[in-house]
Amino acid sequence: MILVVFGAPGVGKGTQAELLSKRRAIPHLSTGAALRQAIAEKTGLGITAKEFVEAGRLVPDEIVTGIVKETLEHDEYKSGCILDGFPRTKAQAEALDAILQAQGRAVSCVINVDVKSDEIVRRMLNRGRQDDTEEIIRERLAVYENSTFPLLEYYKQRGKLCTVDGNSDVEEVYGKIEKVINNL
Ligand code: ADP
Repeated sequence: MILVVFGAPGVGKGTQAELLSKRRAIPHLSTGAALRQAIAEKTGLGITAKEFVEAGRLVPDEIVTGIVKETLEHDEYKSGCILDGFPRTKAQAEALDAILQAQGRAVSCVINVDVKSDEIVRRMLNRGRQDDTEEIIRERLAVYENSTFPLLEYYKQRGKLCTVDGNSDVEEVYGKIEKVINNL
């Protein structure tokens, strides 16, 4: 099963993806977490990614797609994966389709976690991550609107989209996601 947990920055994708991964024993890949780790370790990838992440901009498609391709080719990910924070652009969605097709599989479902925008800003300011200052949050939300939001249509057209109301507490949202998965 290849699940994509999708949504604006701060909707709680990471929290839900982690819970799903633990409770369903499906490996999880967060491109944001992978990039933050590379930045902390000052690897070549981290040095390149740093300026983009810290400006709230998207890291170039080739770089992020490379991380995903490499991960999905590991044995550990052969039985399935929960993707969190990827794809974020149409080019990434197309690259993901091509990677999976070459492996004889496809995206099972895109779970769109939908949260009101004032709640999103509140959650991100509470979280206090380094890229969660008001200015960078504003930039990330704009990038989401312009580059990522249009992907909802991409997956809707392919019959892969399921939207879940993310305005309630973690367990309640999780329950809704479980229901979606159980119906796949
Ligand atoms: P959030 O859950 O708040 O959206 P993430 O941890 O997913 O945060 O991402 C943090 C940052 O990492 C993004 O603002 C972006 O700079 C970079 N990033 C993560 N995933 C991608 C991606 N798929 N393509 C490009 N940049 C990405």
